[in-house]
Amino acid sequence: MTHCDAPGLIPLADALARMQMTVQTVEAIETVPLSELLDRVLAEPVHATINVPGYDNSAMDGYALRAVDAGLSLTIAGQALAGHTHSEPLKPGECVRITTGAPIPPGADTVVMQEDTERVGERLRLTITPNRGDHIRRAGESIAEGTEVLPAGYRLGPIDIGLLASLGLAQARVRRKPVVAVLSTGDELTPPGAPLAEGQLYDSNRYSMIAVLRRLNVEVLDLGLIPDQPEAIREAFRRAAHDADAVLSSGGVSVGDADHVRPVLEELGEIGFWKVAIKPGKPFAFGQLGQAVFFGLPGNPVSSLVTLHQLAVPVLRTIAGEAPPPPVEVAASATDTFHKRPGRLDFQRAVLRREGEENRVSGFNAQGSGILTSFLGANAYAVLEADRGAVSPGDTVTVLPFDRFIT
Ligand code: AMP
Ligand code: MG
Repeated sequence: MTHCDAPGLIPLADALARMQMTVQTVEAIETVPLSELLDRVLAEPVHATINVPGYDNSAMDGYALRAVDAGLSLTIAGQALAGHTHSEPLKPGECVRITTGAPIPPGADTVVMQEDTERVGERLRLTITPNRGDHIRRAGESIAEGTEVLPAGYRLGPIDIGLLASLGLAQARVRRKPVVAVLSTGDELTPPGAPLAEGQLYDSNRYSMIAVLRRLNVEVLDLGLIPDQPEAIREAFRRAAHDADAVLSSGGVSVGDADHVRPVLEELGEIGFWKVAIKPGKPFAFGQLGQAVFFGLPGNPVSSLVTLHQLAVPVLRTIAGEAPPPPVEVAASATDTFHKRPGRLDFQRAVLRREGEENRVSGFNAQGSGILTSFLGANAYAVLEADRGAVSPGDTVTVLPFDRFIT
């Protein structure tokens, strides 16, 4: 029994599958220079137009020679330096002093490292017997011309940018950044920096959401703090429907008298589903507002972050054109009790560490959906399956380490 304990709630995997089926990747493609490519998403695969390395070259500082001459006392006929070509072909009985990266002189087939040689006056003797081809980096051994180096849908990181540069590519074709509108709802909220009146608290969700969106490298359209008034929400939603590819809203998706987000979404757009069988974060709404995909996150700060990470971020990545690899979960042994009742998939903030041969996971007592500090010091979610009850010390737990879109 999985979600039967939670009638009307959609399992997380189903919610994700439904959202991923509904949304579309932004279509527009831009050509962007190398210096601006960090965290952009490739619109097309990248193929190597050259061999890397481009020519056979030495992997060592030493001497280039012909393997058949290994037993002879060799004439040092000159030198080959990185960045310079050595045009003189090697004659029998000759060797050439060579530096790492220098092209192999014509006629040479082997490099012997300096440490394996002895100078005898003006001549060279080897102290080892090399194999033909030793210490030569072959043209194309790193990347062969014509190979697909990076696939479409790939998010570019520092290494990938170096890779593009090594292919001589000064730019790449990437997806336009999606525009994501962000808003907080709640009459009880005050923007940070302003004095706090009685019964008020500071709007923190909008700032977390914006920070996550910055990590995702999308364009943020901050629609601000919206009061719990249907007309104010309508106005913000109309703007988002017109100007954004996606909308993240916080609060107002429960069943309270001031929860106008869902009714207004139904009125101006379409609701796909509401309520997911996860904890924290049950009252999550998904829908469509004009051209924009709508994610209605719950107001409680922890719920809002967990639903943002687990439900909105994967779909925003699809909208951005990314085809991310599935997250890597690990199994760990619980060091203490994790309180839980069967019913919903629970994302508890936890600390994962390696102890000897074992992964161990510890939880925190304060797992309340309003307790933002329950993230402090955590480096992972303990993902407790829906049908599971309390976890005892020593039990095996699935752990999902935080990625950089979370912390
Ligand atoms: P709601 O989902 O609108 O019913 O909000 C539930 C609770 O979450 C509220 O009572 C607030 O305590 C808190 N909350 C709602 N919105 C925010 C926000 N933007 N920042 C911080 N806390 C919030
Ligand atoms: Mg509210």
